[in-house]
Amino acid sequence: MGSAAAWALASRGRDVTLLEQFSPGHRNGASHGTTRNFNPGYAGPDYVAMLAEAVRLWDELEADGGERLLARTGVVNHGTDPHLGDIRNALRGAGLRAEFLTAADAAERWRGIRFDQEVLYMPDGGQLNPDAALPVLQRLAAGRGADIRHRVTVLDVAVADDGVRLTVDAGGRTEVLTARQAVVTAGAWTAKLLGGLASLPRLTVTQEQPAHFAIRDEGALWPGFNHVPGQGPEFADWYSPVYGMQTPGEGIKAGWHGVGPVVDPDRRSFTPEPAQMAALQRYARTWLPGVDADSLTDVSCTYTTTVDENFVLDRIGPLVIGAGFSGQGFKFTPVVGRILADLATGEGTAPAIFSASRPGVR
Ligand SMILES: Cc1cc2nc3c(=O)[nH]c(=O)nc-3n(C[C@H](O)[C@H](O)[C@H](O)COP(=O)(O)OP(=O)(O)OC[C@H]3O[C@@H](n4cnc5c(N)ncnc54)[C@H](O)[C@@H]3O)c2cc1C
Repeated sequence: MGSAAAWALASRGRDVTLLEQFSPGHRNGASHGTTRNFNPGYAGPDYVAMLAEAVRLWDELEADGGERLLARTGVVNHGTDPHLGDIRNALRGAGLRAEFLTAADAAERWRGIRFDQEVLYMPDGGQLNPDAALPVLQRLAAGRGADIRHRVTVLDVAVADDGVRLTVDAGGRTEVLTARQAVVTAGAWTAKLLGGLASLPRLTVTQEQPAHFAIRDEGALWPGFNHVPGQGPEFADWYSPVYGMQTPGEGIKAGWHGVGPVVDPDRRSFTPEPAQMAALQRYARTWLPGVDADSLTDVSCTYTTTVDENFVLDRIGPLVIGAGFSGQGFKFTPVVGRILADLATGEGTAPAIFSASRPGVR
């Protein structure tokens, strides 16, 4: 999100410095790896409008960056989700494709997945590649004048009359940087960094542990997929809905959503919780006939989740805040960048659902 904000602001000729505590391509936060679902499965008007804009902006980034960032494999949502009809109608209203398929038709197309009821197929969905997208955003931002600084840790943020003052550790050297404003997109570290400075919705940081399963059926085609559990004993050991996708060269990723252990981002184990992983393997054994449920590699990553799972996109004095992406933010990255730039330049506002002072989220 910080890289996207730097790209959007530099594209408007603003004087931008991007600070990151770790090295390029680090795996300590939420934006590493080569796949994230561009799952269009939303019905809320603000999210649907952002989806349509995201499709355009990812196209623009691919064109400007000269790299494919979104593999359009389509996405299928299935299971006992009462919102599938609303999602189809909302997407069609926004010019995005969505159609229902029978379980039999879906199984014929995607024999690696087991379906037991109607399936919502969204052909405009697919997989984004974070390990390619972040360098493109930063390269384009730098090309438009932004200063990209890795291995610089912000130790303190102070609000002053004329803006902000940041005390940073740059490779053991302390510096004090001043700016008219700071866009803070510190992910899992947001509450730590801004705790006393801004009253924010509660942000819960969890260590999530999807896994890549080895492909058993080499010829099978794979869309992105989201599966909502039904009622009854068959679903008793599910932790949450399941999401998944094919990661080229690594297998089929599948994961529980937002149920990992609550962690301090600076004190993580990076190791999976065994009971959840065993349940995920049982899921794969039952619902993913195209994979070998006993051959897997775990992935470790952080979610920063709000109570209502809506983002925080807001401005508090000279601080512009982007946080709480609740395990669903990557698809919206360039739009979040645009909204944060609007907030920073005063050229626009964010939808009310993202307000930091909204009720019921503390
Ligand atoms: C397992 C998993 C699966 C997901 N699947 C999907 C999906 O299918 N589709 C989807 O749309 N989204 C998905 N997401 C969500 C998406 O990846 C996140 O919403 C998004 O990456 C969040 O980006 P961010 O910039 O907020 O966080 P980060 O990328 O973590 O950025 C925060 C950065 O701030 C830096 N930082 C923090 N404090 C400081 C400091 N004091 N000084 C300097 N730098 C600092 C950190 O080092 C970090 O690099 C998934 C997330 C996970 C974990």
